[in-house]
Amino acid sequence: MNKPKVALSSCLMGNACRYDGDHNLNEKLLEKLADYEIVTFCPEDYCFGTPRPTMDLIDNGKRIEAVSNESGKNLSEPILEYAKDFFKQHSDIELFVGKDRSPSCAVCSGKVYDKDKNLLHKKGTGLMAKVALDLGIECWDSEDYIKD
Ligand code: SF4
Repeated sequence: MNKPKVALSSCLMGNACRYDGDHNLNEKLLEKLADYEIVTFCPEDYCFGTPRPTMDLIDNGKRIEAVSNESGKNLSEPILEYAKDFFKQHSDIELFVGKDRSPSCAVCSGKVYDKDKNLLHKKGTGLMAKVALDLGIECWDSEDYIKD
């Protein structure tokens, strides 16, 4: 029988796709996902390359956007396009596990700022995780997923 599929932030698998060229290998998490077929994703590496400038989630009053800390540009569109394409190509994903605190991958642990860069809260959803949630996929931050 085929294993169920999990979409997993690529850096958690040990791939060096973080903004600073490092990774977030999490062996405990990989053990816990042993019964799944893992499909990795990294919207930021795909869209902007590695290494790259950081970005933050900004609530502009209408929606939450990913904004470059270097250029101040709104980077949301390519991330959302990547996410929609990913889930179209992998329509049988049953579980999403995202890297905590990432403006792309966090499920409910991202820092959200206002336009003046005042911190509003730390429970924000990254843009790719939001697409997964909107599709009704079960979503977890990785640190919550491995809590006993
Ligand atoms: S947290 Fe997400 S966007 Fe950032 S490196 Fe990991 S997979 Fe890529």
